[in-house]
Amino acid sequence: MLNATWDYEKELIMSTTGEKPGIGTYTCTKCGETVTLDDNTDTLPPCPRCHGTDYRP
Ligand SMILES: [Zn+2]
Repeated sequence: MLNATWDYEKELIMSTTGEKPGIGTYTCTKCGETVTLDDNTDTLPPCPRCHGTDYRP
């Protein structure tokens, strides 16, 4: 099959409050606060410091 589709990873994957991005540590894009999720079913909370909602891995 030559028509396979490829999933290209985004260079910068953003995660937002309410998403379930999986286990890992996420950094607030506004203030740099880190939030750790230790369960795949955890949802990202608003940033505890600045209440921002955008994180990067
Ligand atoms: Zn923040």
